[in-house]
Amino acid sequence: MSVKAVKFGGSSLANAEQFKKVAQIVRADADRRYVVASAPGKSRPEDVKVTDMLYEVYDLASRDLPFEDLFNRIRGRYEAIISGLALDLDLSAEFARISAALLHHPGRDYAASRGEYLNAIILAKYLDYDFIDTSKYIFFKEDGTFDAEQTNAALSAVLREHERAVLPGFYGSMPNGTIKTFSRGGSDITGSIVARAVSASLYENWTDVSGFLMADPRIVRNPRTIDEITYRELRELSYMGATVLHEDAVFPVRIAGIPINIKNTNAPEAKGTMIVPTSKFYNYETVITGIAGKVGFSVITIEKDMMNAEIGFGRKVLEVLERHRISFEHLPSGIDTMSVVIADKELEGKKEAVVNDISRAVEPDSISVERGLAIIAVVGRGMISAKGTAGRVFRAAASKGVNIRMIDQGSSEINIILGVDEEDYPRAIEAVYEEFVK
Ligand code: ASP
Repeated sequence: MSVKAVKFGGSSLANAEQFKKVAQIVRADADRRYVVASAPGKSRPEDVKVTDMLYEVYDLASRDLPFEDLFNRIRGRYEAIISGLALDLDLSAEFARISAALLHHPGRDYAASRGEYLNAIILAKYLDYDFIDTSKYIFFKEDGTFDAEQTNAALSAVLREHERAVLPGFYGSMPNGTIKTFSRGGSDITGSIVARAVSASLYENWTDVSGFLMADPRIVRNPRTIDEITYRELRELSYMGATVLHEDAVFPVRIAGIPINIKNTNAPEAKGTMIVPTSKFYNYETVITGIAGKVGFSVITIEKDMMNAEIGFGRKVLEVLERHRISFEHLPSGIDTMSVVIADKELEGKKEAVVNDISRAVEPDSISVERGLAIIAVVGRGMISAKGTAGRVFRAAASKGVNIRMIDQGSSEINIILGVDEEDYPRAIEAVYEEFVK
């Protein structure tokens, strides 16, 4: 029998109705043996995610303010699920323990993690699967980074002893045993970790959309769904703002070469998007796989005559950034100019100091910082073999009056990065989409 690891996101587990759909999906395929649960999310746009409510509860508790009302509202969400499913399950002792712990300021991550912890207990009961608390098997190192190898050894050992199990997503523990969460949306990472630990044939990630769209639907009307995308392409797109899957979720399954299938709990028959290690095939018709982008970047432009001959120039500039703990996005350069593209939030409060330090380090003829840059990534493995793709991208942008301020193409040839003014951002995306998707 092959094994599938399946993860259900917050909207898939937001209420009893959604739980019923989830159970139907799990029961429809005996290979769906390991299930990762998110906390209850939104079933309507005006709902509040339980995780957000828990952060708020923690905030109140840590300031020694009364948190009981809000805590009881959270409790009500779970109780409505339990009664909606007519389950014989009493979580009073769990709630009492959490509320007592909150009085002792147990940490923000502990508070947030209870959302998935409780939901996984309910789902395990409903499916009649074992419940396994991930805090005992997912580990972080002292510096807060995820410990992939220790986790994989411990998790695969315990899962071998359980034929079928539900595990809470989003968190693990620090070496001293305290709970630590991944960043927001981190249950996607847990699903991937579980898939690797059980050598799954497939990691199904169930959410509320039928896969990745080729472009942001707020900009392009009815964009097509991507049928198949490689890990590398996906990494480019999610880094640049495509948000269906957590950008770090690719790493654990990539080690094991396990494909990910993005599926829709509300439309389980839709094929969704398949994320695969490599693929020889691409959509010949579109050449590109997807377009994504972000606003909110600044460019530091440094000019100096004969820069090209000055050994160590680039290093000195980058050392300044390193000293200020700033990571940069792109580094387009000319003979006598070097530009560094940096997210505005990285530069916040540091701009003047950075400019002064770079000036001191390399004594440029001029240095300037310009805000208001948007970055667009046009991604596609099809671009490796199709000639003239860059030309088409530029022509399309020009035809809509978009001025391209920066160009960068990775040597892998699977992406073309464009920098444009923020006000041109939607138009540029539309133009590229229209050019490639007829
Ligand atoms: N519940 C967490 C969040 O809202 C983690 C997740 O859903 O993946 O970010």
